[in-house]
Amino acid sequence: MNKIFKPVALLALCAAMQAAPAQERRQDQVVQDGIAVKPLKGGWARDILAPEDQVNEQSAQQYMALMNQAQQKGALVPASDPRVKRLRTIAQRIIPHTARWNQEAQQWKWQVNLLQSDQVNAFCMPGGRVAFFTGIIDKLKLTDDEIAAVMGHEIAHALREHGRDRQTKSTATGIASSIGGAALSAWLGVDVRGAANALGQLTVLKFSRDEEREADLVGLDIAARAGYDPRAGVALWNKMASLNERGAPIELLSTHPGGSNRIEQIQDHMNVLLPLYARAKGTSVDRLPAYRTNLASQ
Ligand SMILES: [Zn+2]
Repeated sequence: MNKIFKPVALLALCAAMQAAPAQERRQDQVVQDGIAVKPLKGGWARDILAPEDQVNEQSAQQYMALMNQAQQKGALVPASDPRVKRLRTIAQRIIPHTARWNQEAQQWKWQVNLLQSDQVNAFCMPGGRVAFFTGIIDKLKLTDDEIAAVMGHEIAHALREHGRDRQTKSTATGIASSIGGAALSAWLGVDVRGAANALGQLTVLKFSRDEEREADLVGLDIAARAGYDPRAGVALWNKMASLNERGAPIELLSTHPGGSNRIEQIQDHMNVLLPLYARAKGTSVDRLPAYRTNLASQ
């Protein structure tokens, strides 16, 4: 009996280990408070088509190329600028809460820069390379909580490897794109979709509605843990809608198609987001003051 049983049990154990990659096992052990942590998407096709080292390397090169181009144009805002200081202070508070969503983030070499441009835009490339355009901070008069909501959203795309999913698809199909790439090209005065090999590919391909949904919620979860009010997410998207209604171009919306129920979805999850914020602030939800934005001053 034993002779038969043992090999079968061993085989079953091996199969179970293969079916559950190390990362999934680690994440299953995370206590589920806030937005539920799901295992990252995996699959042999993605690992072959877009191996992590390759994605990271491409991302590093593209980010550096973009920053160099910006600097040559005089469009890389210096570290002494108060807005750059704000961005980096907020990032420093957010970053310690990212590993919950992707263990690899602990090894990322985070960068945060501000580009001088009217575009209402921001992004985070794989590996934690963040950039904001001055247009999004200035035109939307973003509060610190609202900057954290944008940054959390963009970082969530990188943590959940949405860019890597897209990289897999673009490698597989040879299709780069996009509206965002065109906007970036116009700003830089070079065709980033062409020979420079798409600074755009990893940064500005259009996210899916599902990815947007995840980035909204994960982003606000991270921001709330860092002590930023998740109700800023509602104010942020209201400000975007308000600017959009006035006919101003909002580049970020072309790559982040949230749909009309985006704010509703955020509000539906406020019951799990607000306790994270209250805990970070050392208080309880019922003692939190109402969220105050500066929307009326626009
Ligand atoms: Zn998005």
